[in-house]
Amino acid sequence: MSEQSFRVVIIGAGMAGVLAAIKLQQAGYDNIAIYEKADRVGGTWRENTYPGLTCDVPSHHYTYSFARNPDWSRHLPSGAEIQGYFKRTTKQYAIDKLIQFNTEVTQAEFVDGLWQLELKDGGRDSANIVVAATGVLHQISQPAMAGLERFQGAHFHTARWDHSVALEGRRVAVIGMGSTGVQIISELSARGIEVSHFVRNPQWIMPVQNGHYSEQERQAFRSDPKVLEEAMDFAGYTASVEVYTQALIDPDSEGAKIMGQACLDNLNNSVKDAKLRQQLTPDHAPMCKRLIFSPDYYQAIQRSNAHLVRSDIECIEEHGIRTRDGVLHGCDVIAFATGFRADQFMRPMQVIGIDGVDLNSLWAKRPSAYLSVTMPYMPNFFMLNGPNGPVGNFSLIDIAELQWGYIAQLIDVVREGTDADTRLALYPSKQATDDFDAMRVEAAKKTIWYTGGCQSWYLDAEGIPASWPWNYSRFVEVMKTPDLNKYVLMTGAA
Ligand code: NAP
Repeated sequence: MSEQSFRVVIIGAGMAGVLAAIKLQQAGYDNIAIYEKADRVGGTWRENTYPGLTCDVPSHHYTYSFARNPDWSRHLPSGAEIQGYFKRTTKQYAIDKLIQFNTEVTQAEFVDGLWQLELKDGGRDSANIVVAATGVLHQISQPAMAGLERFQGAHFHTARWDHSVALEGRRVAVIGMGSTGVQIISELSARGIEVSHFVRNPQWIMPVQNGHYSEQERQAFRSDPKVLEEAMDFAGYTASVEVYTQALIDPDSEGAKIMGQACLDNLNNSVKDAKLRQQLTPDHAPMCKRLIFSPDYYQAIQRSNAHLVRSDIECIEEHGIRTRDGVLHGCDVIAFATGFRADQFMRPMQVIGIDGVDLNSLWAKRPSAYLSVTMPYMPNFFMLNGPNGPVGNFSLIDIAELQWGYIAQLIDVVREGTDADTRLALYPSKQATDDFDAMRVEAAKKTIWYTGGCQSWYLDAEGIPASWPWNYSRFVEVMKTPDLNKYVLMTGAA
């Protein structure tokens, strides 16, 4: 089979999809298409545009390893700056030519050695390989709240921010205290906007600085990549990733104690009023939920234009939010910072593999994957940032690059075994996947996400943490070389 006819389809033009396309192109694959349901690249950074949007991973780590960016303006990048980086990089590597925007894949079915794809606009395609790079946090979770339809003001989920709604001079209610809610409150409070923060469960906050890179520093990064590499270890970031992952999987570790104490000190040292401090004190262990890094939330919530609301929401009325204690909190805008459904991945797309097995039945109990990248019954189907990969406070770009290193080797095996007469397909055996999953679940029960006494989007429907339950080095190790003994290789006539 000529390389031209060996087709790879990538679903999603976010960070991971663009990465896959760049790497495939560099490896000589020349029949690649990316389907993107939206009209632009960027994935989560296209969808999230809320005020204060910042990435809590240091800028220079939130870049592809092969396309560093000397021009980051701050230690922690803003959403707009990241989106600009992805747009530029997509163009620089000529990936934009491969993307079909406004094109949603609704179904993928494996028939006679090829994936047959159906598109929402009625179009069809087929491919030897499918790479699902559809992201983790893209299906919004917006709780049904009684009376919302009566609300006279504007309301939206934070990932669907309506920028036509003016905020200055209005009263803004923000529901939810994850990283998103915290960043919005910090920004709006600093702008002097009247904000009410509805917090059902307060979360722990790790202090962090977000300094600016000077023009001199940026110039030094441009002229000498070594200077940039040194800057990447800003605040010992690289070492801290290992300590951090160790703390997550071993709540008794020294690292866990140090980080927990840092969060407690941050709260105690930052919040003066004893009642407010008590209201902001979480009832679970630090790091049980994804840790929030913020330079300024505690300062923001103590401004006179900011109000913390701890009473549960009863209902929404024409002019505000009524809480269970009977108080009506007047507001003009409601922002739902209520998070995402992290169990959806590429769904609602239908995926049908061999023997008629479909994704929904395969994931009936929980989304799972062999080593986070492949699934039984789904030949030549690969996932970036799929189930059970590390999704802590680390760079998902780094994780996707590691996953790609593994996937690329499998795609090469498939291409080598595919010619004009034969199609090779591979998928992990059910036994290998079940063994891995059993081990993963056992390890997950020892992590702080499970023992820490909290609810979070890390937990699946049965309360088992879905994230990689071992340390970062172990992930690096398993992603180095696929063990083909764990895979079923099938050949069929082309
Ligand atoms: P989240 O962490 O899932 O937080 C959702 C918040 O909404 C929680 O405080 C939750 O309260 C609250 N909530 C949900 N339903 C509610 C209801 N019915 N009534 C009252 N409160 C309700 O969501 P997120 O803040 O959007 O963050 C999601 C993830 O996105 C983060 O963990 C992170 O991975 C990523 N993110 C990253 C950054 C970054 O800087 N890198 C920034 C933003 C987001 P309970 O705790 O009581 O459930």
